[in-house]
Amino acid sequence: MNAETPPSPSNFIKTIIAEDIKTNKNDGRVATRFPPEPNGYLHIGHAKSICLNFGIAGEYEKGTCNLRFDDTNPSKEEVEYMEAIKADVRWLGFDWEDRLYHASDYFDRLYAYAVELIQKGKAYVCSLSPEDTKAYRGTLQEPGKDSPYRNRSVDENLDLFARMRNGEFPEGAHVLRARINMASPNMNMRDPAIYRIRHVAHNRTGDAWPIYPMYDFAHCLSDAIEGITHSLCTLEFEDHRPLYDWILDQLDVPCHPQQIEFARLNLSYTVMSKRKLQVLVERNIVDGWDDPRMPTIAGFRRRGYTPASIRNFCERIGIARRDSMVDVALLEFSIREDLNEKAPRHLGVIRPLKVVIDNYPENRTEELDAPLHPNHPEMGSRTLPFSREIYIEKDDFMENPPSKFYRLSPGREVRLRYAYFIKCEKVVKDKTTGEVIAVHCTYDPETRGGDSPDGRKVKATLHWVSAAHAITAEVRLYDRLFSKENPDEGTDGSHFTDFINPDSLEILTDCKLEPGLADTRPGDSFQFERLGYFCRDKSVSPTGHPVFNRTVTLRDSWTKISKKENA
Ligand code: ATP
Ligand code: MG
Repeated sequence: MNAETPPSPSNFIKTIIAEDIKTNKNDGRVATRFPPEPNGYLHIGHAKSICLNFGIAGEYEKGTCNLRFDDTNPSKEEVEYMEAIKADVRWLGFDWEDRLYHASDYFDRLYAYAVELIQKGKAYVCSLSPEDTKAYRGTLQEPGKDSPYRNRSVDENLDLFARMRNGEFPEGAHVLRARINMASPNMNMRDPAIYRIRHVAHNRTGDAWPIYPMYDFAHCLSDAIEGITHSLCTLEFEDHRPLYDWILDQLDVPCHPQQIEFARLNLSYTVMSKRKLQVLVERNIVDGWDDPRMPTIAGFRRRGYTPASIRNFCERIGIARRDSMVDVALLEFSIREDLNEKAPRHLGVIRPLKVVIDNYPENRTEELDAPLHPNHPEMGSRTLPFSREIYIEKDDFMENPPSKFYRLSPGREVRLRYAYFIKCEKVVKDKTTGEVIAVHCTYDPETRGGDSPDGRKVKATLHWVSAAHAITAEVRLYDRLFSKENPDEGTDGSHFTDFINPDSLEILTDCKLEPGLADTRPGDSFQFERLGYFCRDKSVSPTGHPVFNRTVTLRDSWTKISKKENA
């Protein structure tokens, strides 16, 4: 595993596995798997599962983690999704080596296992209509009723199942059901369907199969076929565990993996199910699966998150058996922490205000030296051109400042980062609107580098760029995609899309950045001093300028939150 990730703390799953290793269960092997259904892009919840499964395997010499596509449900987009999933797992820093599998690899074997169940009298072909099946199933309060087809003979079942497989029946005519217990208090055990008829082509097996196995049947058997030792899944599968074990107990399988459940990750101010994320994509509420506001791995990558920041976040949230909501501020803390160490510093002005330095020679340009990182001299430095006309941030100037405003205002002196002290002498306003369009200043040539030899103090240091040298860029500022902490909660009949934050994206088209940023590439991350961390986007603006995404602001709300919680 990547050396940057700190040693991970223990959790109840690791404790179970360590104990199994000690007792030499499974011959000291640890085999896990990450089993995504390729029906969308991976989200940050999947990252938790990936870090857990690949992380545990990585801790043991005889540890392996498979990537297995749960492709039992044929759909057209599968190929795009599979490629995206592979790219995301790799990007996170994990490697399945030669262990890339598909549930569809096992269709022949799964079919043979179904035949074995029929032969053992443990499965039957049921021909109830979907409505009747539901009615016979009972409720949580009432037991179900046996299907009239439950006592079909083994031979009749074998014949009907073979004909289902041959494509002789329309969809819905029959299903193959496990023969367990219609009176079980656990609804999953009331003779669940294990195969259904679907006349749909599969991207890997084509038209070979008119029947497809159900998740509960395919999953435990795929685990067993692959020799998985510990099958880690989220809590909603707890009630499926008796079925997982029942199926494996009936059949002659290579091994019987242990299913262990853990709490899924829920993150505040977002939704996490692929089905819901798909709605956002389809309705063009976002700009695709990798929109930087999406909680997808691809979205975080485009936003400027690093793999280490996501892995560290997953370590911090830990693994528990109780569902909870994690504050998105903790994720922001993780990326801030990582980029604070790694991101080179630059100057960029996102809402420019022109400043003319009246006593600076008209045609002079100076090259000022500035380190790329305050704590890492080994990262080197860059030169900043300085000239008579510069831009500063609009917010850094006030004509009539309140008492606590220490930045530029008439008569006030401030420092320009790495450059000089300047003092505001005059304000130029638009004649009709009254808006300040330029500020005239004088500079003190004695303060080069940003220090006054006479010990004079200023209360503010501003970022700036030279107007003649700056590059123009588009900057996209992101805010939470939802305005409600838990948009999933729909007790009043509301839909999660009702809580979309209308201000989740602000586009600034005329930003001025230090010239060195012209040479950067998509995916590169920087700190724009005093503003936040930004990442160059893959796109170019409609006016042909580079685009930068704000990854996160500099302000850390998490430390405050956790201090409050600890207090
Ligand atoms: P979704 O509802 O988002 O589609 P899923 O559970 O159906 O989620 P799968 O592709 O089946 O998605 O999941 C692959 C693995 O990732 C499973 O083992 C699942 O338990 C795990 N997983 C999915 N969502 C989360 C989450 N929010 N937190 C932790 N693990 C998750
Ligand atoms: Mg799913």
